[in-house]
Amino acid sequence: PEGYHAAPYYPTPHGGWLDSWRDAYTKAHALVSQMTLAEKTNITSGVGIYMGPCVGNTGSADRLGFPQLCLQDSALGVSSADNVTAFPAGITTGATWDKALMYARGVAMGKEFRGKGTNVHLGPSVGPLGRKPLGGRNWEGFGSDPVLQAKAAAQHIKGVQEQGIIATIKHYIGNEQEMFRMYNPFQPGYSANIDDRTLHEMYLWPFAEAVHAGVGAVMTAYNAVNGSACSQHSHLVNGILKDELGFQGMVMSDWLSHISGVDSALAGLDLNMPGDTNIPLFGFSLWQYELTRSVLNGSVPLDRLNDMATRVVAAWYKMKQDKDHPRPNFSSNTRDRNGLLYPAAVISPIGQVNWFVNVQDDHYLVARQVAQDAITLLKNNGSFLPLSSSSKLSVFGTDAQVNSGGPNACLNRACNTGTLGMGWGSGVADYPYFDDPISAIRKRVPDVKFHNTDNFPAIDTPSPDDVAIVFISSDAGENSFTVENNHGDRDSDKLAAWHGGDKLVQKAAEKFKNVVVVVHTVGPLILESWIDHPSVKAVLFAHLPGQEAGESLTNILFGDVSPSGHLPYSITKAATDYPDSIANLKGFALGQVQDTYSEGLYIDYRSLHKQSIKPRFAFGHGLSYTNFTFSNPSIRAVTPLTLVPPGRAPKGPTPSYPSTIPDASEAYFPEGFTPVWRYLYSWLHRNEADDAHAIGVAGKKKYAYPDGYSTVQGPGPAAGGGEGGNPALWDVAWEVSVTVTNSGDKFAGKASVQAYVQYPAGMPYDTPVVQLRDFEKTAELKPGESQTVTVRLTRKDVSVWDVELQNWVAPGAAGGRYTVWIGEASDRLFLACYTD
Ligand code: BGC
Repeated sequence: PEGYHAAPYYPTPHGGWLDSWRDAYTKAHALVSQMTLAEKTNITSGVGIYMGPCVGNTGSADRLGFPQLCLQDSALGVSSADNVTAFPAGITTGATWDKALMYARGVAMGKEFRGKGTNVHLGPSVGPLGRKPLGGRNWEGFGSDPVLQAKAAAQHIKGVQEQGIIATIKHYIGNEQEMFRMYNPFQPGYSANIDDRTLHEMYLWPFAEAVHAGVGAVMTAYNAVNGSACSQHSHLVNGILKDELGFQGMVMSDWLSHISGVDSALAGLDLNMPGDTNIPLFGFSLWQYELTRSVLNGSVPLDRLNDMATRVVAAWYKMKQDKDHPRPNFSSNTRDRNGLLYPAAVISPIGQVNWFVNVQDDHYLVARQVAQDAITLLKNNGSFLPLSSSSKLSVFGTDAQVNSGGPNACLNRACNTGTLGMGWGSGVADYPYFDDPISAIRKRVPDVKFHNTDNFPAIDTPSPDDVAIVFISSDAGENSFTVENNHGDRDSDKLAAWHGGDKLVQKAAEKFKNVVVVVHTVGPLILESWIDHPSVKAVLFAHLPGQEAGESLTNILFGDVSPSGHLPYSITKAATDYPDSIANLKGFALGQVQDTYSEGLYIDYRSLHKQSIKPRFAFGHGLSYTNFTFSNPSIRAVTPLTLVPPGRAPKGPTPSYPSTIPDASEAYFPEGFTPVWRYLYSWLHRNEADDAHAIGVAGKKKYAYPDGYSTVQGPGPAAGGGEGGNPALWDVAWEVSVTVTNSGDKFAGKASVQAYVQYPAGMPYDTPVVQLRDFEKTAELKPGESQTVTVRLTRKDVSVWDVELQNWVAPGAAGGRYTVWIGEASDRLFLACYTD
């Protein structure tokens, strides 16, 4: 469609031009300079799926001490491993609105990834951003807003990488639904058609922040954007990610999404995962030996391969993995002590693959804290909650108790049986144990009546004081699994509770005068069939708590702490409150499915505000047992605004290498070497290498460079200049301070302070009326206690992406004032500060 086209962008900018990576690149240059052709192509690709302990295993350059790298899921803990913590999911972490907790969870997770001997953590996820409420993997990220995603991801990355683990921001970009995401021989993956401004102000925003935070790796998405597959998208990878955002690390493909050898290399991909071609024909790759061939025959310039290898090695040095980094001590393929070393080879040597290293330490504490501080009190009529331990309680719903088969009974958590602690797919971890709600409730109220059913049972009429707690859930995941007819996305039950949960609440509300609803969910639900029922006194969204589902909840239910979670998305009254482009999934179409972002910037609360639709519960909403007042706002201008940011600095020097086509002997299969069947190697047989070399040195490429290809490194766009873009974008333009006071008299509590910006009236850019730009959480404030909280707006926070100028523009610099709204939810903005 009009406006969605993006020109090809060549060549790949060399990595290494930024001071923050200088040291890592100097070392990487020294190491890569000593590598043979086959060593370089070995470290830029996996060795094949199920060919090592981790979900991704690169080749090595053993001769030079560069090991195989272990890449492991997931964004909520070390996947497919024993003795790890199953942390609350991203969406739960987002619901805390607490940067310190986002960081602490990252630190704990980074320690576990290190303790298990991995090199690369395949998280965090900020794509999907959460555009479509039905999208299957929104729960892996932090909520349906670019700033919430961005700040949470940055904290997470910092926490993880400080432990010497390379974090991976994924999936770049536009993977907003699961259905039809993948290329196959019959159909390309869907095309997410995103215009340039929407890309910059919404979907790219968290990736930019992740790069700014120094993230070491980026994973491309399965789908296409504006017609081209993300794994070979020169505009997105070479242009936006590596030049405009100045990304210095390595770009990997998502698993089995590698669909071209030469094109993907030229488009900026650095690492092919897990090494195989997109149709898992074990033992075949488009890189490894093929990349070796492509360099010898001149199709891929050696210059590009050198940069690929240097980026991989630099990321490794950057996290100091050259010093005392442990080797993998677990296997994703089996939980047994001994197993096949290369399962895909079938006939494989056997050896010890699991050492059962316990990396949990006291991380359950941060996991529980996150789960607890995420719990979002949506409604609390007449201050019904907290409960007292003398309450007569009945509990309903299978979601209150752990799966009777054990919490890990379903592979990749691909079932919704028992308490829902996480969604399904690759984004999971094994539970070491499961603290379920019913066990925790029993500790408080031993004679609680528990009805482990989703059909309301026949019971005696309760007395008016009796309380029913009803547990309901809604699940989603990756479309590698179908659960109860949901193909990843919530395409079957849509925004209704699963297992007839809404009926269960209604029935309970007919019988009991006091009903508390606890919801474990991947995202928003439509609550209209019961939310206004007078018996429904309180509703708690506990999101996806991971292993700590019990005590985190009872601490809130019984009032040890006040709830302080806030919604990371809006809950509408009807699915149709959103335009069709976001309310619905794109179904089957002939050819490439087109998912056009016709709503532009208007998703979630931005869309509702635009249409003047009141949601049931707004983005950012969350009640406490106490009340907070916000007072004494003060705004301070820090850096004076200019229409466009000050000019960027030129790129610094990057490593340089000889560029002549290497000798064919650098690619020869070593004599006497016995290959493992189906294992991917980067060598060629002697005659193949010689043939390819002859083509290359004759200057005849096997494949011509694509149209517009140039080997000349460019200066980079005006909007670039540092990690994440022009460093001036992160200058603080304004600081706003407010005093938050716990104005209640009974309960302590933590307040969420949310800052939304409103752009100057009359500016020539159609922009959502308010947009979240920063947030902070207070400490636990006792009744009467106050805290001064400061939030910050950067130059980027008050800018728009001008598609003509191809730069960020701060419209306020041309006159007109911004309003900074401060409050505790997108619909409870108490204070306005004006910038003049
Ligand atoms: C997922 C990624 C994951 C990878 C490795 C893919 O299917 O989309 O998020 O990291 O598999 O398991």
